[in-house]
Amino acid sequence: MESILQTVFGYPHFRGPQQSIIEHVTAGGDALVLMPTGGGKSLCYQIPAIARQQAGQGITVVISPLIALMHDQVGALHEAGVSAAFLNSTLSSQEASDTERRLVQGQITLLYAAPERINTPRFLAQLDSLQERGCLSLFAIDEAHCVSQWGHDFRPEYRALTVLHERYPSVPRIALTATADALTRADIIERLQLQSARLFVSSFDRPNIRYTIVEKRDATAQLLRFIRTEHLGDAGIVYCQSRKKVEEIADQLCDEGIAALPYHAGLDAKLRQANQDQFLRAEGVVMVATIAFGMGIDKPDVRFVAHLDMPKNIEGYYQETGRAGRDGLPADAWMCYGLQDVVNQRRMIDESPAADEFKQGLRGKLEALLGLAEATDCRRVRLLAYFDEVYGQASSAALGSVTTTNPTTCGNCDNCLHPPAVWDATDAARKLLSTIYRVQQVSGFGFGAGHVMDILRGKTTDKVTQYGHTRVSTFGIGADLTEPQWRAVLRQLMAINAVAVDAQAFNTLKLTEASRAVLRGEVPVRLRVSLAGPGQHKTRRSAEAPAPKPPVALDVAGQARFAALKTWRADVAKAHNLPAYVIFHDATLAAIAQNAPQSLHDLQGISGIGARKLESYGQAVLEVCQAL
Ligand code: ADP
Ligand code: ZN
Repeated sequence: MESILQTVFGYPHFRGPQQSIIEHVTAGGDALVLMPTGGGKSLCYQIPAIARQQAGQGITVVISPLIALMHDQVGALHEAGVSAAFLNSTLSSQEASDTERRLVQGQITLLYAAPERINTPRFLAQLDSLQERGCLSLFAIDEAHCVSQWGHDFRPEYRALTVLHERYPSVPRIALTATADALTRADIIERLQLQSARLFVSSFDRPNIRYTIVEKRDATAQLLRFIRTEHLGDAGIVYCQSRKKVEEIADQLCDEGIAALPYHAGLDAKLRQANQDQFLRAEGVVMVATIAFGMGIDKPDVRFVAHLDMPKNIEGYYQETGRAGRDGLPADAWMCYGLQDVVNQRRMIDESPAADEFKQGLRGKLEALLGLAEATDCRRVRLLAYFDEVYGQASSAALGSVTTTNPTTCGNCDNCLHPPAVWDATDAARKLLSTIYRVQQVSGFGFGAGHVMDILRGKTTDKVTQYGHTRVSTFGIGADLTEPQWRAVLRQLMAINAVAVDAQAFNTLKLTEASRAVLRGEVPVRLRVSLAGPGQHKTRRSAEAPAPKPPVALDVAGQARFAALKTWRADVAKAHNLPAYVIFHDATLAAIAQNAPQSLHDLQGISGIGARKLESYGQAVLEVCQAL
């Protein structure tokens, strides 16, 4: 197996559990693989497919819901010298019958097909004929969580995939997903009847992703500052909740000279596809999108994922942030979060037509995410704990060593890098809750956040005077705190559901069941000391497009080679109608630039250069390097 990894894909070593999965599947075992995005799932079925084809066992059928990406996936295999094809609705009937002919003749190693195609009589007849001749080797079910209603990408067509097992019981199956939670996992096993498949669960840690969650002030300005100081010229994804906001933010970024494109389900399908292609093919594009964007996007060099609005739950946050840094190089997951996010998310749940029990489940999930956002300790430890993983344990187990100490800090999240100063806000929280209680008592109805904070801070606004709220006993007792500090107290109280917002009554604040314990001082409230306002960081502004950043430190000559190689790669990618990373990853180009190769022999063994790529591109790469 290792020889296929090296000669076809040009990688020196397997990652994590890849080797055991590949051996198990190649030997004909069924498998369910849970591995985070970027973990290297594709090789887990591609290498068995190649090995089994070489052993005369025939073709592997890959079921994938990602029609828009099949062309590039197949293109990447062609570049590596593997015969592959796809069948989906984008093909003309002539192209489809060509592929079918090659399929029947056994000329294909991997066939990608959309799930809705599998159950057509025509396709099943073709599979039958392959099976009769002993040429049906393996089924790979990618994005297997699509079978589950609990997953966020439910596709009813996935339910019909049980036909594979029922009709071809002797053909092994491997199902793969990056969705980790137990409910979805159980559902996949049940729905796809994988009870006897071997389960492979990887560590869900993504050590190269740095998690940062900042308090929202002026979200757009904060985003701009983040991009300018950390990611100028990088490819990234910015998630927003609404279609309208997606368009606004994309426009604003463009006005500021950042190459940004919008993506949401309301855009015309052609434009959506064009924007996606542009994101995949051009360098340094920022995609501003709703959650409609992202599944299966295998662009390895997405350097940041930013959330301008909070996702619904930790699963969503993890999936979306996971799209950063698939290449293993440093990447950022940055979220900007504020009071309004809490209010909006709670309202969406309250107003949804779902059953109460289901809503309760949604609230629990939201609260876990709010806990992560409010945390003053390591984000990674909390994130992994949510997926029942103890930080430091699974990863060391995967490396074969046993550790008895569980680190409580990761060193690569905002809270670990800059431990926040924390203050005890228990008293402040009690003052806030009693103000909500008292104004309700005095006036007979509730008031909104602004008014409550005015009372606490002792401001004699017209409204405060009009309602006689200067006489409320908490009037002015909170003058020592600033308004942002009071907002932070309120936000945290809402996060733990000790304050509710009544959307039916002008967004007035209400006490809840959980308020009581806080009022009695039984629940300590600890808050991070708010950071200084905007303008704290120096911004690096540049009107010109930045030079491409190599992923390793290169000397001046090396940098020149890297830049020249990138230009060469862009031309090749364009000629092949493929994204640049399919030709070579940045990391591979950087390694070539560093090695200053003199001969084909010097290129051998560089990670990412397999036999076919050496043959196709080796000479050209040498010429590019030597021309400088
Ligand atoms: P997933 O499908 O799990 O999100 P991919 O299969 O797209 O991940 O792999 C992520 C990236 O890692 C790809 O660019 C792939 O080429 C690379 N990769 C996978 N396995 C290895 C390996 N053993 N060594 C080096 N790179 C690898
Ligand atoms: Zn940390």
